[in-house]
Amino acid sequence: MMEKVVLIRYGEIFLKGKNRNFFENTLENNIKNALISVDNVNVAKIPGRFMVSGFGEFDEDIVINKLKKIAGIYSFSPAVLIETQMEEIISASIDQLSDEQGTFKVVTNRADKSFPLNSMEISRLVGGRILSANRNLKVDVINPQHILNIDVRENKRTYIFTKTIKGIGGMPVGCSGKGLLLLSGGIDSPVAGFMMAKRGAKLYALHFHSFPYTSELARLKVEELSQKIAEYNAGELTVFMCSMTKYQEMINRNCNPIYNITLLRRAMFTVAERLCKEKGIDMIISGENLGQVASQTIESMTVVSNVVKDIPIMRPLIAFDKQETIDIARQIDTYDISIRPYEDCCTIFVPDNPVTRPKLFKVEAEEKKLDFDKLVDESYETMETVVIKAR
Ligand code: ATP
Ligand code: MG
Repeated sequence: MMEKVVLIRYGEIFLKGKNRNFFENTLENNIKNALISVDNVNVAKIPGRFMVSGFGEFDEDIVINKLKKIAGIYSFSPAVLIETQMEEIISASIDQLSDEQGTFKVVTNRADKSFPLNSMEISRLVGGRILSANRNLKVDVINPQHILNIDVRENKRTYIFTKTIKGIGGMPVGCSGKGLLLLSGGIDSPVAGFMMAKRGAKLYALHFHSFPYTSELARLKVEELSQKIAEYNAGELTVFMCSMTKYQEMINRNCNPIYNITLLRRAMFTVAERLCKEKGIDMIISGENLGQVASQTIESMTVVSNVVKDIPIMRPLIAFDKQETIDIARQIDTYDISIRPYEDCCTIFVPDNPVTRPKLFKVEAEEKKLDFDKLVDESYETMETVVIKAR
């Protein structure tokens, strides 16, 4: 018996009792969903870990790439699973290092205390046999280039592996409530969504457009970003597409243009809170960042958040430098999509001199020039829902 598998480690040490079961079950489901397209794949719980098995040789890379995107996984190792039997352990170990050169050491972990050799004895025996089988290798126990791990488990199962790949860590998606991500086509909001998914929030997205002022290509861009985010969000992202066209035309016609962005953002957050309440979503997630952009001064954020009464607003990027956000956008592969130059509804009807320190009473006075509630109702009621699947 010899099977290729992947061993998955998660941060189980922080968890106790009921929470631990919930965490493990959620993670198991997320792994299964992420690997759903891989033929014959099997995901099983083994003590303290998960094991993926059954996949064909050509699907190993796909499995690895999917696992790299699952929140709650700390690290994982492609391994071979063999029967606990000395000759099998030796031949599988030799095989694992057959293409390598340089220095190595063997590290054995014996959970099965009924096996006659202890871990030191196993390591020494296997190390000796590797040395005589591969003349390009030398032992270095202090600073080896390769570490061959032998994990002797219960039920006559032994795992052998040399590589440990880092996962993204965090908590499994679905463990920390639901979040409505305000998703523009920009760089920041996809990163904000990723960070909250990584902390275990199940994401939904809300995108505002002003078609036909914003183009069909701008929408496509949001769908492509959603596809990337879906990979981190248990395989899918439900996106609500909401038109602000009429509202923007009305503010443009009736209000002092220096308040355009403030007014637009207050309408966005009003729609967002209503949607959260209707769908049972627990929080709003925004890519705002404290800074000098007119819409992102503390005064602007205060006047805008004022419309949201009962739902928390999460701003995971609030203290990031732009470069820190860009680095993560590159890591999650959204950057190149985000920088495509299409109009966003925040960039049309933009005044040259937007107010940077809006006063609430002045903004409310501008809003009185419109039928705010009716316009927001109209946007809300014409919202479309699109379910985007990860590829
Ligand atoms: P981003 O890079 O995410 O577009 P930004 O630096 O352009 O952010 P703003 O335009 O002030 O900053 O937007 C701040 C946040 O408001 C965005 O991160 C996003 O969460 C939300 N937002 C902005 N425009 C839209 C939109 N068209 N649809 C949905 N949410 C939006
Ligand atoms: Mg933007």
